Amino acid sequence: MTDEILPAIAGEILTGDAALSVAGQDWGKLIHARPALVVRPASVTDVAVVLRFAAARGLPVAARGAGHSPYGQGQVEGGIVLDMTSLRPRRVVTGDLVSVDAGARWREVLETTLPHGLAPPVLTDYLELTVAGTLVVGGIGGATHHHGTQTDGVVELEVVTGTGEVLTCSRETNADLFDAVLAGLGQCGVITRVTLRLTPAPARARRWKLYYDTLPAFLADQRAVVRDGRFDYVEGQLIPVEDGWRYMLEAVAYHTPPAEPSESALLDSLEFDESEDEDTAYFDFLNRMADGEAALRAMGSWFRPHPWLNVFLTDYTVERFVAETLAATGESELGATGLILLYPVRNDRLKTALFSVPPGELSWLFSPLRVGSPEDPPHNARLLELNVDLYRKARALGGKVYPSNALPMSTEDWRAHFGDAWPKLADAKARYAPGNLLNPGQRLHW
Ligand SMILES: Cc1cc2nc3c(=O)[nH]c(=O)nc-3n(C[C@H](O)[C@H](O)[C@H](O)COP(=O)(O)OP(=O)(O)OC[C@H]3O[C@@H](n4cnc5c(N)ncnc54)[C@H](O)[C@@H]3O)c2cc1C
Repeated sequence: MTDEILPAIAGEILTGDAALSVAGQDWGKLIHARPALVVRPASVTDVAVVLRFAAARGLPVAARGAGHSPYGQGQVEGGIVLDMTSLRPRRVVTGDLVSVDAGARWREVLETTLPHGLAPPVLTDYLELTVAGTLVVGGIGGATHHHGTQTDGVVELEVVTGTGEVLTCSRETNADLFDAVLAGLGQCGVITRVTLRLTPAPARARRWKLYYDTLPAFLADQRAVVRDGRFDYVEGQLIPVEDGWRYMLEAVAYHTPPAEPSESALLDSLEFDESEDEDTAYFDFLNRMADGEAALRAMGSWFRPHPWLNVFLTDYTVERFVAETLAATGESELGATGLILLYPVRNDRLKTALFSVPPGELSWLFSPLRVGSPEDPPHNARLLELNVDLYRKARALGGKVYPSNALPMSTEDWRAHFGDAWPKLADAKARYAPGNLLNPGQRLHW
């Protein structure tokens, strides 16, 4: 492809080994697809030039945000990678809305909105992910049981379609494109600009870690607090201990002094065995992974393979499924620094057309976040097999994936995943990005 020259753009075109190697890997360290070019667009015009050039020649293109995908979702062998973090920062708060370049990280969004006393209602646990990178999968966090996914807070998008057309879309304008882009795995266009609704930001976060010795007691309390919404944020972790597992409900109440959360109203009805609490500035709570990241970087674990799995389970299968999985999971299956998340969300809060969860009142996010070994590919292959087995089992029980996984999904798997929403996605893809050229690392081809 390099014998044809890309038209001049304001951004950069990189063909050096360093840039191509970076674009040929991601957080998962399991897939390595080397592109022919990396383009660092300066503007939406650059993105449109690249997509028109590529569409005319049948070249595949992948947009890349922070590169925190686990399994090559933002990679493209022999094609063009658009590094979306190079878009010129344009971050503007107007009323209760913020408009940002799509390659902005959630930390940068917060740095823009907090001086106005505002914040996005749902944030991911890790703030260094890009806005578009999480919007193509949904974006879930401890506030999802109140406010849905990050995609539910999107008001408007600017998108460059696979054919290079620049379109604005919202619930009112080009609604088919809007619905196909949010949680649509980047199949219909490249997001260049995002307008999000904001909510008032509190000053502080009171965070409780409630420990349980038994899985049923932990699940019962998670159900109760997610149903009645007494906390602003609820997640949970399953912690390996010497003789089995312990369960930690992580619950947060936001507050702005002099108002204080009432500990007895929040905790008295709960059946935990031990607790810890801390009170921090709101931003420090949201940015809590920064210290963990520094520690994991220092010990090298941050750079190891990450065969992560995220599935949604139904409420009526969660207890048995989790108990059986934990019985078969030890350090060899999880890695010394791996962890498992488990928390419910309320399905009635999820409004995004393509965000697929099991039926029922609650869906449970179950995430074995495994860490593999750079020296032992057969071990990593075994961890991937465990993911496939768990995915098949969850699916047979009515479960779904949360679509950021180290899993060799097929188009048939995706068709089953999207279910009734599939024809809409398929129609939009045929209309806006024909030819399977866009973000092929997501493995949806037809
Ligand atoms: C440490 C860590 C913590 C995480 N925590 C959470 C969490 O709390 N909640 C949660 O929901 N997820 C979480 N995730 C998963 C994460 O949200 C997804 O993997 C996300 O897709 C990564 O975003 P990214 O910016 O790194 O995008 P990338 O990995 O670069 O890209 C992801 C996908 O989006 C596409 N894409 C990127 N930019 C664009 C664009 N502008 N237009 C169209 N398509 C685009 C890519 O082609 C690719 O298919 C976490 C991941 C990690 C590694």
